[in-house]
Amino acid sequence: MVDHLANTEINSQRIAAVESCFGASGQPLALPGRVLLGEGVLTKECRKKAKPRIFFLFNDILVYGSIVLNKRKYRSQHIIPLEEVTLELLPETLQAKNRWMIKTAKKSFVVSAASATERQEWISHIEECVRRQLRATGRPPSTEHAAPWIPDKATDICMRCTQTRFSALTRRHHCRKCGFVVCAECSRQRFLLPRLSPKPVRVCSLCYRELASQQQQEEAEEQGAESPGQPAHLARPICGASSGDDDDSDEDKEGSRDGDWPSRVEFYASGVAWSAFHS
Ligand SMILES: [Zn+2]
Ligand SMILES: [Zn+2]
Repeated sequence: MVDHLANTEINSQRIAAVESCFGASGQPLALPGRVLLGEGVLTKECRKKAKPRIFFLFNDILVYGSIVLNKRKYRSQHIIPLEEVTLELLPETLQAKNRWMIKTAKKSFVVSAASATERQEWISHIEECVRRQLRATGRPPSTEHAAPWIPDKATDICMRCTQTRFSALTRRHHCRKCGFVVCAECSRQRFLLPRLSPKPVRVCSLCYRELASQQQQEEAEEQGAESPGQPAHLARPICGASSGDDDDSDEDKEGSRDGDWPSRVEFYASGVAWSAFHS
């Protein structure tokens, strides 16, 4: 079946409009065969608080950014290949409804839609695109995901030692492995997690011990395989040089105005059979 939107004028115009809203701060998005399937504002749970973010669902990528002026100017563009995405539904809480988690190897985060219907629409469209991408690339669904960061305000005390109380002077840190909010003392170590960063990243004391012993075991096995008889040398987990972490990417620095924008989500593919969107 012919893709109803690919290589159509309306699709090119929509993609050009997205590119122009991001301006020089964004990547070129137009590609042969790429289709913009929908867009809308979702609330993204960031480190400090939940913030509105504009999301664009293409047939192969999910793009989001912060809103400077709705439909006019967006910043901080993030591009997530859909083949790396898995979704997880989250239970309702008193503070937040219609939530789900977008998980990838590099980063996982929680978003919420304005209504249950919108959530359902987003999820089914994203999942359909993911399935198609996986089928097209022949990749298995990804199984390893970065732990989402627990929001700062979720705890006043260190989640590892449960002793340190956070304050203006006692900063919160995040373990890159488990996402827990921990104190400086409980997150002295750095460990190389290549999926997340080319440089060693902050991990909590518990994760450090687990990662180090895992690495030690792997090295011992390697040693044993290569030169039996030699004592397996101890693993040297990386300490020291940090990757300049503790920046919650650029998300919290963006001065996106808390204006009123329509929570309406638009799916251009609505009414069109999904089988129309061949990969
Ligand atoms: Zn602690
Ligand atoms: Zn940890």
